[in-house]
Amino acid sequence: MAGQVKDREAFQRLSFLYQAAHCVLAQDPENQALARFYCHTERTVARRLVLRRDPSVKRTLCRGCSSLLLPGLTCTQRQRRCRGQRWTVQTCLTCQRSQRFLNDPAHVLWGDLPQAQLGGQPGATVLENSPIYPDLRPPQPLPSTVHPTPPHPAEEKAQPQSSRPSDGVTVFQTNKV
Ligand SMILES: [Zn+2]
Repeated sequence: MAGQVKDREAFQRLSFLYQAAHCVLAQDPENQALARFYCHTERTVARRLVLRRDPSVKRTLCRGCSSLLLPGLTCTQRQRRCRGQRWTVQTCLTCQRSQRFLNDPAHVLWGDLPQAQLGGQPGATVLENSPIYPDLRPPQPLPSTVHPTPPHPAEEKAQPQSSRPSDGVTVFQTNKV
């Protein structure tokens, strides 16, 4: 998405924290707690401001404990076969939570499909594309999750209730887009 980035400073902060976590682990692999703290902060900021992170970034963060997942250091990565498909299974060594990703070069993430690109213009484009949403979402239950859905809706429901109302409003707006 070219053009103006809305929350430029926030994204810069996310980037900084993510890179800082990498630096910490590169200098001292034992210092995983600090890296986890950076990643946790990064995740909190992204959640508060409802910023979407690139899948390549999201997949290197544990959804359970926010550890930075580096194969061989903080996580294990194994190739598995299931129903004729190949999966990469990533298991966090801190909390043992695993995520799996479809190992198919032809697989395209929904966010990379042309239908998902609204060109930064909500409004009319959304209305045109909206009938497509129901068709595209079901086959896309992202292979990334072993645990179906429980954590996600719980978080979303919890947010508007527990946090300030302004946060809730932002969540709903972004979901529409
Ligand atoms: Zn973990």
